[in-house]
Amino acid sequence: MDFKPYIRAHADELLQSLAALIRIPSVEGTPEAGAPYGREVARCLHETLALCERLGFPTVNMDDRVGWCEYGKGEEMIAVLGHLDVVPAGDGWNAAAPFSGEVKDGRIYGRGTMDDKGPTVAALYALAALKDAGFIPSRRIRILFGTNEETGCDDMAWYLAHGGETPVMGFTPDGEYPIINGEKGIMNCVYSRRLEQTGPCRLLRFEGGTAANVSPAYAMAELACPADAAARIQASKVTVTPIEGGIRVEAQGVSVHGSTPEQGENAIGRLALALTQLPLEGELADCMAFLAGRIGMETHGESLGLAMRDDLSGDLTVNLGVAAFAEETLSLTLSVRYPVTKTYDGAHPRMERAFALGGFHETKMKHKAAIYMPPESELIRKLSQVYEEQTGEKAVLKSIGGGTYAKSIPNLVAFGPIFPGDEIREHKPDEYMEVERLIQNAEIIAAAMYELAR
Ligand SMILES: [Zn+2]
Repeated sequence: MDFKPYIRAHADELLQSLAALIRIPSVEGTPEAGAPYGREVARCLHETLALCERLGFPTVNMDDRVGWCEYGKGEEMIAVLGHLDVVPAGDGWNAAAPFSGEVKDGRIYGRGTMDDKGPTVAALYALAALKDAGFIPSRRIRILFGTNEETGCDDMAWYLAHGGETPVMGFTPDGEYPIINGEKGIMNCVYSRRLEQTGPCRLLRFEGGTAANVSPAYAMAELACPADAAARIQASKVTVTPIEGGIRVEAQGVSVHGSTPEQGENAIGRLALALTQLPLEGELADCMAFLAGRIGMETHGESLGLAMRDDLSGDLTVNLGVAAFAEETLSLTLSVRYPVTKTYDGAHPRMERAFALGGFHETKMKHKAAIYMPPESELIRKLSQVYEEQTGEKAVLKSIGGGTYAKSIPNLVAFGPIFPGDEIREHKPDEYMEVERLIQNAEIIAAAMYELAR
């Protein structure tokens, strides 16, 4: 079935439709009636569904959180999941204005061109090409338009919780090519303990980091303690400054993404190691000894008893992202990622036991299960075949530590839109998509929809 002529013939229309959506600054905003993620996000969803209708597809809007269009009949449904929300523009745009959708030098510029409005609109024209070619699928093809990917994926959680149909298989063009068939499981959690402080040194402040999935570049503590305590701390990348009645201790780290903490240096762990050089007593001593001895600068959970690995995705990783101390309670926010073939039931009890040793208990847990789709599964076989036919390149399968949108509903993997070696500009200034790459995405998505649904 040759649907390429339709896509090529409608390339200008595709670009104009995309530009119209890029001009809607669909960054999460204040919730209001009919716009749970803000007015612009809802407007972008409404405009997209109107475009689907113009292309001849029936649509559903589920509570202004998720919308979809569908083509064909059949018991089973395959899904393509894209999202219409974007991250804020930020500074540093030189090539074009962030919400312009300007086309120049063979590129379309704007926030969302690559992540993820471009690939989503490409999927829509791919479906239009299949319809135009008279394709009669034996599985329904649904394009899902999420609107909360960038700030929590509550959209797809809502979809599943409110009777949204689970696809038998599908993909999200919100990662990279060839195919990401493995994603580590993610436990984003908070562990806390209250401190009954005794002894000559008392903790006044202890803080660092910004988010579970970023390793902290800076952490600091203030303690009330004897004047001679400052001299006890001898550590590189740690500075001690006298303050009224005590000292301030500051540690530097190297900030990296929380899925690869081994590439960074954890400022909170370094701070805890430095503090154990002080004459701490009682619970504060126990707590810092735990923090320094069980976590410290480690990133694979060795001393926590969490170490596990598989050949597909490597080691479990632990990122201590945020520390906070308030009302005598120390809270640690972590992102722990376990290998793709392991389970929550295998990793989580070990973590609870380890933290209990330090007097901590779990106060928050957001878990996203690992994804692993074997190479011989129908989905991976077919996507591999499509990718190789369409590009002439080998469909190398990848497992990653990061989480993609594929995690938000069952039976999906990330497939596209970024080709190996291409510049990655998502979430950065001057985000763009090459027009040719956009068209190529539409062609690959059409071929993939065809293979999965026929
Ligand atoms: Zn995205």
